[in-house]
Amino acid sequence: MSHHGPAFAAVIGDPVAHSLSPAIHNAAFAALGIDARFEAITVPVGGVPAVVHRMRDEGWIGMSVTMPHKETVVAELDATTPIATRLGAVNCVCPEDDRLVGDNTDGAGVVWALRHHLGIADLGTSIAVIGAGGAARACVAALGDAGAADLVVVNRTPERAHEAAALAPGVGRVGSIEDLPDMRIVINATPVGMQPTDGPPVGFVPGEGVVAMDLIYHPAETPWLARARANGAVACNGVPMLVGQAAAAFERWTGVDAPVAAMTAAVATALGRSS
Ligand code: NAP
Repeated sequence: MSHHGPAFAAVIGDPVAHSLSPAIHNAAFAALGIDARFEAITVPVGGVPAVVHRMRDEGWIGMSVTMPHKETVVAELDATTPIATRLGAVNCVCPEDDRLVGDNTDGAGVVWALRHHLGIADLGTSIAVIGAGGAARACVAALGDAGAADLVVVNRTPERAHEAAALAPGVGRVGSIEDLPDMRIVINATPVGMQPTDGPPVGFVPGEGVVAMDLIYHPAETPWLARARANGAVACNGVPMLVGQAAAAFERWTGVDAPVAAMTAAVATALGRSS
């Protein structure tokens, strides 16, 4: 393995052409004067072993992983971090000596968004997560670890809600729409709101004294988030989480603090271009 020229990193997925990861990470490299470039590589189902082999061979400094590879990439790695092991999903791969370690920074991203974007220092409060897919599971595990006092999972399919709630032992529980009015933070972790014809993910709209967070960032404001804002809630879209998870991955790859302002600006520019 030899390496010449700028360092290299990439996001793999399918589809991946519209990923914001190249814009975010290239902006971070540029802001810090790091000689590295980050590309999106379309990897179809079945293509993961070859691309991980390429990462080892070419000495990439990092890899982001998105749909549909977050679970299947695990088998190609030497180890996974405790959080990635718990979730059974990897969103970034980090070289450590001669090994490739899978990590999952999605939950760290949501905690970063709440603490540093919204300024909620103490997460020991009541939190609802709507949905029980990969993003919801990452939120539940991280918010449980961050000290949530009551953590309710509301999902269309109850079995999946049970599995997600179990990721926060002691505080995680399965709830229903009746629980939502009692919650101080309500997070939409379903894709409902991405399509122009979508309504709200649930028939409850947060109001005053409540933080409404939607993990969706395109559109910038889903109908549910717009209604929550109009109703007096503090509204936050998925951009801060996106930046937070990227920053955590960047710090693992480079060992330096991520330039989050430059990364946030890059997202705004990229989203502005595509809307
Ligand atoms: P996923 O694994 O496919 O999970 C989707 C979840 O949403 C499932 O629990 C599903 O319920 C529920 N759902 C889907 N359609 C629904 C509907 N019509 N009504 C009610 N519930 C519905 O997806 P994911 O990877 O977790 O992603 C979820 C969202 O988070 C996406 O919009 C994604 O873009 C966003 N996200 C954002 C970030 C960020 O950094 N901001 C990171 C990751 C994901 P069932 O269990 O009943 O099927």
